[in-house]
Amino acid sequence: MTSILLTPGPLTTREETRRAMLRDWGSRDGDFIALTAEVRRRLLAVANAADSHVAVPLQGSGTFIVEAAIGTLVGPNDKLLVLVNGAYGERIVKIAQRIGRTVEALTWEEIEPVDPGRVARALDADAAITHVAVIHCETTTGLLNPLADIAAVVAKAGRKLLIDAMSSFGALPLDLSSLPATAVMASSNKCLEGTPGLGFALIEKQALVAAQGNSPSLSFDLVEQWRGFEGNGQWRFTPPVQVLAALGEALRLLEAEGGPAARLARYSENCDILVDGMARLGFPLLLERDLQAPIIATFRHPDRPFAFERFYEALAARGFVIYPGKLSKAESFRIGCIGAVDASDFRRLLAAIQDIMETRSAA
Ligand SMILES: *Cc1c(COP(=O)(O)O)cnc(C)c1O
Repeated sequence: MTSILLTPGPLTTREETRRAMLRDWGSRDGDFIALTAEVRRRLLAVANAADSHVAVPLQGSGTFIVEAAIGTLVGPNDKLLVLVNGAYGERIVKIAQRIGRTVEALTWEEIEPVDPGRVARALDADAAITHVAVIHCETTTGLLNPLADIAAVVAKAGRKLLIDAMSSFGALPLDLSSLPATAVMASSNKCLEGTPGLGFALIEKQALVAAQGNSPSLSFDLVEQWRGFEGNGQWRFTPPVQVLAALGEALRLLEAEGGPAARLARYSENCDILVDGMARLGFPLLLERDLQAPIIATFRHPDRPFAFERFYEALAARGFVIYPGKLSKAESFRIGCIGAVDASDFRRLLAAIQDIMETRSAA
């Protein structure tokens, strides 16, 4: 039996996507240069950003591109304000501290969305802040932050916005022709349904050019990474060629599915089935329903003896791999709604959970 992954990434991919990796590519060969250009163009198209931004892919996991973007775009004399309501916001604070940037955090409880009014007041009170970083969907809980309102407040105050859209890019609406943002960071292995190993940033061209010389790192310097692509179309350093080929196929499949709106509709149906079914089985949602993005849902433990490890193992034995740990501070666990999975998978999942709870194999 092949298992399905209900994790926020790596996640279940389509066979066509995995099959795109069954080939060797010379990274400096014309075919691969063309593939790189296609992927960069398609990434911009997903966010309607072709006129304003450039796409800069980077080897590594999602955290690598976040670290690269912070180090490249926030200069040594700048100040970063990070809006924190979960582990990924905290991670950006750590990244900025580690590379010696001036950084401050504005924090909320992990079950509360970022409040744009508070952000506006913080920006009013501190003229030294040049950049604001926010997590679009905080994957810690699956909470959706009010991105449009935050972006409006940051733009009105004349500061630059950096968006970690890692777990939302490709599904939740993001239109950079109307939403003011200096940079958006995401990766291959979440809503784009590619395989892991690649991050990318969409960066306003002017801001990127102006960031020349900022990065404290050679390999994470996104200005130099971009100049490589613009120069001869090649990657500076060895790219994960198969991962890029898979991402190219995944982006074609996204378009064939009907783009981000169609993908969001599929994920939303997955999430509705999951949340309603879990509530019936005694697992309440951690967040208020209207704060929950259809990306990954966090459930409280039930009001009865429950051993998560046994629950996890019993589900894995039935072919469903859920997230093995928690990031949230609450007694909870998470199930992803994204990937090449649909309503029928979630109905089967709920039947399996019902069976596990009835046979008390998780007590
Ligand atoms: C997945 C994710 C990341 C990156 O995590 P990696 O494990 O480095 O890929 C960053 N931010 C958010 C919001 C994420 O969901």
